Amino acid sequence: MDKSVFLEDLDAFAYREALASGEAIVLIPVGSLEQHGPHLPLGTDTILSSHFAEGVARRLGALVAQPIAYGYKSQQKSGGGNHLPGTVSLDGATLIGVARNLVKSFLNQGVRHVVFINGHFENYQFLYEGIDLALEDLGIKPGAEQSGLLLSYWDFVSEQTLKEVYPGGFPGWDIEHGGVLETSLMLHLEPARVAMDRLVDGPAAVLPRFDRLPVVPERTPATGCLSSAAGSSAAKGGLLYGQVVRDLAVDLGSELLHEPAPAVVPA
Ligand code: ZN
Ligand code: MN
Repeated sequence: MDKSVFLEDLDAFAYREALASGEAIVLIPVGSLEQHGPHLPLGTDTILSSHFAEGVARRLGALVAQPIAYGYKSQQKSGGGNHLPGTVSLDGATLIGVARNLVKSFLNQGVRHVVFINGHFENYQFLYEGIDLALEDLGIKPGAEQSGLLLSYWDFVSEQTLKEVYPGGFPGWDIEHGGVLETSLMLHLEPARVAMDRLVDGPAAVLPRFDRLPVVPERTPATGCLSSAAGSSAAKGGLLYGQVVRDLAVDLGSELLHEPAPAVVPA
């Protein structure tokens, strides 16, 4: 078996050795416990972000920490809504606090870079705030060697991949919840956890341009999915996963593995 990249498998002395280089990179997958329709498990966002983190860690020689398995409240226009059974969420302040504590702990122990690999749309800004507050707590200022980074994996899907995954046209990231992207990735990475025989095909959700609270429940399709997962396949998932892991590793590698190129000073 390959050497594990997961911190949960490491012993304390191996972890210490990794820190001793002064160059350790720790990736933290972030997901949710959220309904994803009748055909996908509640842990889909956490499962997928963990797989992306693992693939990237193997390419970069980084480590993967325990995921944050709960996310910020599901919003109707991106996750169907927080009122749906199976969706169990954190308040914004709680998620900020968790992110802040984790970044502070890892940087305090000598990790050089902490990277949140996000898989749940609603989390992003709270993770950003958690990193910012942790850096403030530690007195880390621009120009310092240590840093916190964050990204959502779907931002790395290329135009070319989109064309191949959605031959009929891309419906948009906002209504991808429980749709072709997540279902194809799950079919590629965790086929035993997908129930394609339970998939319900139907029209995509039609949602207003505003947010309204409390939500109007009828606006979320009865499946809980915002677009149909019909047309999903393991092959599309493999294409998506391979391309995203490659591009993510290239971007993070050139950012974190080498000293920045010296600025060109005109003679
Ligand atoms: Zn999801
Ligand atoms: Mn989600």
